[in-house]
Amino acid sequence: MNLEYERRVRALAMDWLDRMDPSHGRAFRREEFRGLAVDGEPIALMNEQGGIMKPRQLDAALSIRTTYTPPGKTPPYEDALGPEGLQRYMYRGTDPSAPPNRAVRRAQEAGLQMIWFLGVAPALYLPIYPVWVVGEEPRQLRFVLALEGQLLVPVGQELSGDQRDWVERVTRARLHQARFRAQVLHAYHYRCAMCRLAVPTLLDAAHILPDAHPRGLPVVPNGLSLCKIHHAAYDQNLVGVRPDLVVAVRPDIAAIRDGPMLEHGLKDLHGSPLTVPPERALAPDRERLAERWTEFLSTGS
Ligand SMILES: [Zn+2]
Repeated sequence: MNLEYERRVRALAMDWLDRMDPSHGRAFRREEFRGLAVDGEPIALMNEQGGIMKPRQLDAALSIRTTYTPPGKTPPYEDALGPEGLQRYMYRGTDPSAPPNRAVRRAQEAGLQMIWFLGVAPALYLPIYPVWVVGEEPRQLRFVLALEGQLLVPVGQELSGDQRDWVERVTRARLHQARFRAQVLHAYHYRCAMCRLAVPTLLDAAHILPDAHPRGLPVVPNGLSLCKIHHAAYDQNLVGVRPDLVVAVRPDIAAIRDGPMLEHGLKDLHGSPLTVPPERALAPDRERLAERWTEFLSTGS
């Protein structure tokens, strides 16, 4: 294996992805991943048929892929968590020595970075990188993955409360929140649901019910695509959303007189309709909105 070349291709691939999406959070159609060339040679980043990609120029796997599972459907295979909280990735087939599995093993042995393409909607992928393969469970036919910040986690061990919390926090930020943002922004066509601002780098996925709430899951029906200002205002209950999708500005905020940001950016929103995805499965969940609305009414004056 030409280790220097393996590393160089990975560094160039990740630079290339950085340039495609400086804000790190957009999902891509498969064909958008086809433009990388190294020394004039096109390098295939994603395996569009199988899950594991080993470009012909390399000896080790460069990427893995997980297909999208619609809400309520069971994934075709179970990529569960291990006792230490790290993600698992199933072998290709059941033969540990099948060429794709060997290519992943070579990436593990050489400590090479990989890219994980995560399906966030039909034919739409969020690249998560770098990731590493840090272990293998042949009996369960799967590899162990580490996200950035999880490289030193001891594989296969039950961790103490603090350590386990740390592993979960990293997974939440790098995987679950990243997927949530990509799914919500895509569902809302990269616009703020309140003001229609269409600058992706200024957009967030806001939770209707917060992370700590039992129903505060990072799923699209618990999300709203909001610009930074409206996200902060919503989080602090300066603006609220009625369950019938109408925006309300808290009376004490509406009573202030100030410059254009307050007048147009906030106060003018009062009574305006929220723009949400027409698909029922993607629209904000009415029950969650109602619960959050009750909280909004109880804050401020
Ligand atoms: Zn906005």
